Amino acid sequence: SAEVVLVGRSNVGKSTLMRELTGHTVSTGSKPGVTRSPNHYDWVAEDFVLTDLPGFGFMEGVPEERREAIKTDVVRYVENYAESILAGVVVVDGKSAIDIIDRHSERGEIPHDVELFHFLRDVGIPPVVAVNKMDKVDDRDDRLDALCDRLGLVPPWQQWDETIAPISAKRGQITPLTDAVRHHLHEAKRDDLL
Ligand code: GDP
Repeated sequence: SAEVVLVGRSNVGKSTLMRELTGHTVSTGSKPGVTRSPNHYDWVAEDFVLTDLPGFGFMEGVPEERREAIKTDVVRYVENYAESILAGVVVVDGKSAIDIIDRHSERGEIPHDVELFHFLRDVGIPPVVAVNKMDKVDDRDDRLDALCDRLGLVPPWQQWDETIAPISAKRGQITPLTDAVRHHLHEAKRDDLL
């Protein structure tokens, strides 16, 4: 089965999504001392293996040096396996992602999620942004267009449905994510035939 990697900063609902997809309770790795190596789980309804990648989330209480080491390991993992990784799911919180991105940008920093998005693309892995907690978002289209804008994708978001997947993990509304990943599977299969 094809490998799909999953990343996301803390509290975006990554564990909730993992539980929904795999039936497993997954450690967020937010506590110091928790193992932070890539872990694999079966995506129950699909023929995919999900790899939970640590190191891009919240690592409060973890010394800077250790944090960097974890990040380096994760980057190396993704680079090494890039050719066989079907898609990279970046989970963001639909309610707060734009504000967080803009706050970082104003400080002259590259926002985490934007960095991840480009990193995946740079190594040839199609990124899929799982925009979670959409049940809390009322200005859906504006919010998703703004996210496209921050990621360098020309709005409207509807033309990026293989990349922008609005979901609610908590409510089990994840069809846009499943469809996006399936899209990349079909593309990969088609490319093999060419
Ligand atoms: P993680 O740190 O990224 O693994 O996040 P969790 O899965 O632990 O979720 C963080 C919080 O967000 C929890 O209180 C979840 O119940 C909540 N949450 C997760 N998914 C959703 C969602 O789709 N909608 C809403 N409203 N809350 C969610």
